[in-house]
Amino acid sequence: MPELPEVETVRRGLAPVMEGHVIARADVNRPDLRWPFPTKMRERLEGKTVQQLRRRSKYILADLSSGETLLVHLGMSGRMLVSGDPLGLFAHDHPAPAKHDHVVFHMQSGARVTFNDPRRFGAMDLMETAAAEAHPLLARIGPEPLGNAFNEAHLIAAFKGRNTPVKSALLDQRIVAGLGNIYVCEALFRARISPKRKAGRISATRVAALVPIIRDVLSEAIEAGGSSLRDFRQADGELGYFQHRFDVYGREGEPCRRAGCDAKIARIIQSGRSSFYCPTCQR
Ligand SMILES: [Zn+2]
Repeated sequence: MPELPEVETVRRGLAPVMEGHVIARADVNRPDLRWPFPTKMRERLEGKTVQQLRRRSKYILADLSSGETLLVHLGMSGRMLVSGDPLGLFAHDHPAPAKHDHVVFHMQSGARVTFNDPRRFGAMDLMETAAAEAHPLLARIGPEPLGNAFNEAHLIAAFKGRNTPVKSALLDQRIVAGLGNIYVCEALFRARISPKRKAGRISATRVAALVPIIRDVLSEAIEAGGSSLRDFRQADGELGYFQHRFDVYGREGEPCRRAGCDAKIARIIQSGRSSFYCPTCQR
C-alpha cells in the first residue's frame, strides 16, 4: 500500500507531464473504483488544463482550468504509468491496453498517464477547487507532517491524556496526515519509543523529539523516491514504488541495527496491523 513518500514520488513523476498541459482525452473504462466516479467525469476532464498538481496526505489533487479539482487516491494497489512523452523526459512507448487500466489521460502533448488498479480500492472524484479542503475525504485530516502546522506543541497537545498506544495515535489521520504503518514503525525505532507505550504516558520531551524524527524518516524516503525517478528512463514507466532500506519494518527476527544492541527485531499485532520494533532499545 503506497504511503506518503510513495504518493509524493508519484506526484513528482506526474508533474512534468501533467502540470501546464491539456487533457485532450480521458478514457473512463468503468463506472467506479472504490466508489462511483463523479457524473460526467470524462466531459469534466477533457479539454481542461492541469494548472497545479498538489498532494494532501495520500491524495493527489489536480487543479483544473475549469475551477474544479480532480482527487486521486491510489488505494491498495493503484499504479500510475507514464508513456510517450514527447518532451523526452520519459522515453517509454505507449503500452498495449492492459487489464485494470481504468482511467487513461491522453495529454495534448502526446504523453499518456494510465491509472491501473487491480484491486480497485483506489478513488477519483471531482470537486470545486475552492471547496477542496471540505471534501469528505479531506475535511478531518490533520496537519501535513512536513508542514509548519505539525510541530512539537501540536503533537504534545494531541497526545495529552490519550490512553491509546502511541502506534495507534500516530496512525490517527486527525493527529498527523498521511503517516502509515511502515513509517510509524521506523519513526518509533529512531525515537526509541515502544509502539505499545500509551501516547499520554510519554514525556513531553520525548514527544517533541518525535517531530523532527518523523520529518526525517519521510524526507529520506521521498529522497529515495526521487532517486527512483532519476532511474525512471530505464524503468518501465511505473511511478512511485521504490527500493528503500528500513531499520525495523519487515525485519522480524533480524538483528537490531542500533550500535551496541544485540536484540532481534520483534513483530506484534496492534489493531490488526504488524508493528516491528526492538524490545530492548524501544521503551
Ligand atoms: Zn535494539
